[in-house]
Amino acid sequence: MSLTQLFTVVRKNIRRIFQYHCDWWRPSKLDSRLLSCTAWRNRWDSLRVFTPSQFNRLPGKPFPKPVNYFPTKDDVADYLEEYACHFQLPIRHNIKVDELKRASDGYGIDADVSTFHARNVIVATGPYRTPYIPPFANELDGSILQLHSSSYCNPTQIPINSILVVGAGNSGAEIALDLV
Ligand SMILES: Cc1cc2nc3c(=O)[nH]c(=O)nc-3n(C[C@H](O)[C@H](O)[C@H](O)COP(=O)(O)OP(=O)(O)OC[C@H]3O[C@@H](n4cnc5c(N)ncnc54)[C@H](O)[C@@H]3O)c2cc1C
Repeated sequence: MSLTQLFTVVRKNIRRIFQYHCDWWRPSKLDSRLLSCTAWRNRWDSLRVFTPSQFNRLPGKPFPKPVNYFPTKDDVADYLEEYACHFQLPIRHNIKVDELKRASDGYGIDADVSTFHARNVIVATGPYRTPYIPPFANELDGSILQLHSSSYCNPTQIPINSILVVGAGNSGAEIALDLV
């Protein structure tokens, strides 16, 4: 079976596969946030993803926007929320995992007030959770307002005209455009 055929089979049977695994292994996803979509909802107001609709879909449910449309952060958040609801994914929200320990038949998971056990664990805690602020930030004059992109919402937070955006990646470029 080719990879494309395998992908098609998985896509067509995602609900059944998930259910099968639920019955057999009882997997669940633990997430420290209140909703599946919070990481996206919390980003700055004007954010549009740089991947057009056709590249944002997950298996089994199309992204509900036209081809070549650049979705807003809320379009993405809505889609993730609907996806979890549609497939009734067993996500347990508002549980922060503190420690993962090897056990004889799998892993022990310490999370807030509860302890869980799982035969297999996938760590998918995301790559952008800890803002990087360079050490020299402390040496700048206290009168300079400094903001990391993770705390940026919209131009009203910055009541001055002279602004330096550090970092010419996607976040920096989009925020600079937002401030023009
Ligand atoms: C500003 C910005 C713009 C982006 N634009 C795009 C784009 O246009 N297109 C694109 O494809 N990608 C984009 N990305 C990247 C995109 O966010 C990531 O590729 C994607 O969200 C990664 O998904 P993830 O599930 O790995 O991590 P995340 O979406 O970060 O999810 C990680 C989850 O793990 C949970 N978690 C973390 N630690 C714990 C813990 N200890 N216990 C329990 N739960 C925990 C968090 O609550 C979170 O819900 C962008 C990222 C940023 C920051």
